[in-house]
Amino acid sequence: MKVNQAEFVISAVKPEQYPDAGLPEFALAGRSNVGKSSFINKMVNRKSLARTSSKPGKTQTLNFYKINEVLFFVDVPGYGYAKVSKKEREAWGKMIERYMTGRAGLKAVLLIIDLRHAPTDDDKMMYNFLKYYNIPSIVIATKADKIPRGRWDKHKKIVRETLKMEKDEPLILFSAETGLGVEETWAEIEKFM
Ligand code: GDP
Repeated sequence: MKVNQAEFVISAVKPEQYPDAGLPEFALAGRSNVGKSSFINKMVNRKSLARTSSKPGKTQTLNFYKINEVLFFVDVPGYGYAKVSKKEREAWGKMIERYMTGRAGLKAVLLIIDLRHAPTDDDKMMYNFLKYYNIPSIVIATKADKIPRGRWDKHKKIVRETLKMEKDEPLILFSAETGLGVEETWAEIEKFM
């Protein structure tokens, strides 16, 4: 998809604050600092639509971005940030659960992980949560530019095995530096529209 328009619409914590339903929504989940903001910015071809984090774990809201007037990206606050209190973590969990299990317009969750490392326990928890609720997921392994091409397959295999992904499930290599994976990700998203 060629993106001509991308705008921040609203930050929300609870359903009353979500924007009017109607457009398909694609949520972005990942541990803090994984490269989620950079992913969004690259996908919509903008330098700083989504804030790249200087303070990981600080944005505890769902941020809705409208793209080309046809869909929403919903940025979910990053997980796994050590300095978050138990209380904050619980509030985060409730907010995510309410949104992901209750939002009719949610078509799929793009789970952003770091290609360089095996998925963390938090990544596994998020992935298993999506499976449990039958929420379609698209796994995106970002920062691919930091791994030599010759080792991509090995790293992909580790990701698939750690998450116990089905063979036919998409795993997309991405780089916010080079733009690798942008077209492929849009193609996966468009399958849900
Ligand atoms: P967020 O906390 O998940 O939103 O992560 P950010 O988008 O702020 O990225 C965290 C750091 O990783 C920043 O320093 C980015 O420049 C860097 N980064 C993000 N994506 C990539 C990528 O694809 N390749 C490389 N080399 N660095 C990346």
